[in-house]
Amino acid sequence: MTESLSALESQRAQLLRALASLKDMRPGSVVGAVFRCGKPSCHCARAEDPGHGPNLRLTYKWRGKTVTEALPTPAAVQKAEREIAEFREYQRLGRELVEVNEKICRLRPVGEQPLREQEKGRPTRSSKKSHGSKHDIVNCVRKQC
Ligand SMILES: [Zn+2]
Repeated sequence: MTESLSALESQRAQLLRALASLKDMRPGSVVGAVFRCGKPSCHCARAEDPGHGPNLRLTYKWRGKTVTEALPTPAAVQKAEREIAEFREYQRLGRELVEVNEKICRLRPVGEQPLREQEKGRPTRSSKKSHGSKHDIVNCVRKQC
């Protein structure tokens, strides 16, 4: 099955619209950490005890380092999960955008200039200037118009 250039271009426009409508996003993951408080009297001091928690945290890489942020409330956990889901969507859309663009590049004939979305339907820059209100008198005299 071959896809036409125009079909691929409309697919690309759709992906760009979806990307433009993305909301708050961040990379990372929510991880749960179980901890032992260290009090000898606490239930968590026993080896078979599951410990406290899990305490949920957000971890992500920033400039090559792993950063951890506390997620102290269920609302904070939900917010982080929403933002991470949005980031995954951004990655998915980005991958699709590149795939569609690769197909477009393969199909685009040599010598054809791809138009930007906003240039479509407008006269191209190379079209002759109309002999309108701003016309050059000298030029007009020479051309005897
Ligand atoms: Zn404890």
